[in-house]
Amino acid sequence: MKHRILFNFIYPLLLPCLLNSCSSNKSSSPSEDDYVECEECEGNGYVIKECSECEGEGNITCSYCYGRGGVRCSMCFGSGRDECVSCNGTGRKECFSCNGSGYDSDGDQCGMCWGDGYERCSMCFGKGYDDCFSCNGRGVKPCSNCDGEGYVECEECSGYGKVKVECEECNGEGKVLKDN
Ligand SMILES: [Zn+2]
Ligand SMILES: [Zn+2]
Ligand SMILES: [Zn+2]
Ligand SMILES: [Zn+2]
Ligand SMILES: [Zn+2]
Ligand SMILES: [Zn+2]
Repeated sequence: MKHRILFNFIYPLLLPCLLNSCSSNKSSSPSEDDYVECEECEGNGYVIKECSECEGEGNITCSYCYGRGGVRCSMCFGSGRDECVSCNGTGRKECFSCNGSGYDSDGDQCGMCWGDGYERCSMCFGKGYDDCFSCNGRGVKPCSNCDGEGYVECEECSGYGKVKVECEECNGEGKVLKDN
C-alpha cells in the first residue's frame, strides 16, 4: 500500500511535462502526407507580380533629365553660344593697322578701318560668339544617362515589368499544411 500512495503523489507533477513534449514533437515533424500544394502559387513557391518600381512598364523616367531626353549644355549654360575670347564677345577688335586711333602714321584716315579704329573680329566673323562646340549651338545635349530616350530600363525587373516574389501563403515552400 505504501507504493500506491507514492505514485498518486508524483503522477500529477509529471503529467504537464509529458503533454508538452508530446505536442511539440508532433508540430516539428509532420509527415509529407500532412501537406498539400499551395493554391496561391500552384506549388511554385513564388508568384509573378507587376513590378511596383515601374508599375509594370519595364521602364522608369530618367531622373537625370526628368524624362526630357536632353540636358542643358554645361559648357554654354544652355545658351548654345560660346563667347568669343578673341574679342570678348564684342565682335570687333582694335584695328591692327592704326592701333585703334583711326588714323595712319601720316595723320590720314586709316585705310584698314576707314577711320573707325576697329575691325571686325576675324575669329567670330563679327558675331561676338561661336556656336558652342559641345552642343553645336543647340544649348542642349542628349542625356548621357538615358541616351536621350528620357527613360531607363527598370533595374528592379530588368525591364520585364514583372517580378517574382516569394509566395507569402507558403513562405516559398510551395506547399502548406492541410487545414491551414
Ligand atoms: Zn505558395
Ligand atoms: Zn520594374
Ligand atoms: Zn535622361
Ligand atoms: Zn553648349
Ligand atoms: Zn585702323
Ligand atoms: Zn570675336
